[in-house]
Amino acid sequence: MIKVENLQKSYGKLDVLKQISFQVERKEVVAIIGPSGSGKSTLLRSIANLETIDDGNIAIDGEYLVKNGQYAKQKDIQKILSKMGMVFQHFHLFPHLTVKDNLELAPKLVKKEGASVVERRRRELLEKVGLADRADAYPAKLSGGQKQRVAIARALMMNPDILMFDEPTSALDPELTGEVLNVMKDLAEEQMTMVVVTHEMGFAREVADRIIFMDKGEIVESGSPEEIFENPKTERTKTFLMRVQ
Ligand code: ATP
Ligand code: MG
Repeated sequence: MIKVENLQKSYGKLDVLKQISFQVERKEVVAIIGPSGSGKSTLLRSIANLETIDDGNIAIDGEYLVKNGQYAKQKDIQKILSKMGMVFQHFHLFPHLTVKDNLELAPKLVKKEGASVVERRRRELLEKVGLADRADAYPAKLSGGQKQRVAIARALMMNPDILMFDEPTSALDPELTGEVLNVMKDLAEEQMTMVVVTHEMGFAREVADRIIFMDKGEIVESGSPEEIFENPKTERTKTFLMRVQ
């Protein structure tokens, strides 16, 4: 589903991603963990084409977004990106639009879908994230947990094959993280393909099929939650887990 090979990226002299290679299979939930500054966001943003990489390959469903550092044509890039949804730490909702319009905007504008189809899906998805009664609210009137659930519903409106999350609960008060993690857990159970950068080790352990541990721009170790949490192979992984658990 996602294939990354020898991905390299630097900011000036700083090598942020060093020869990163990994794959995400369809229906897999992969959690990316690692210390601050290890390159997790840059990796996710590169896959979503929000950052430009210097070298390597990124392919989605066998189609190359970038191959040997050369990007695909704009038209092909758009097609590849339409398969991916992204949820950010700080929600990125449109503040001047109601919840309803936040969800309906892109399907209508980008996909040119009809109003009734879009409205039906919007109702279903707000129901799914437990916010059916907040369709007319503006984001400012919602709690952080509600905003993030709206952001997830909005990403789902585009029917993505893959959902990527960059620390979706890090900006939330602790008592609000559960409601967002539960929505993500439901999606995992429905076999959504997901890549989740997270500091929530409990979630990673319980929900992820595979954990990738990054440090200093490298994938240090990857394996099942049991392998990583019960039996980490490297000192770097052990030290990190000791600090966060
Ligand atoms: P965190 O857990 O704090 O979110 P992260 O693992 O997501 O960290 P990144 O945000 O990917 O880390 O950053 C990786 C490195 O790249 C850091 O050293 C960061 O300072 C640097 N970096 C990120 N964005 C830029 C930028 N636009 N310009 C220069 N350096 C950057
Ligand atoms: Mg980050």
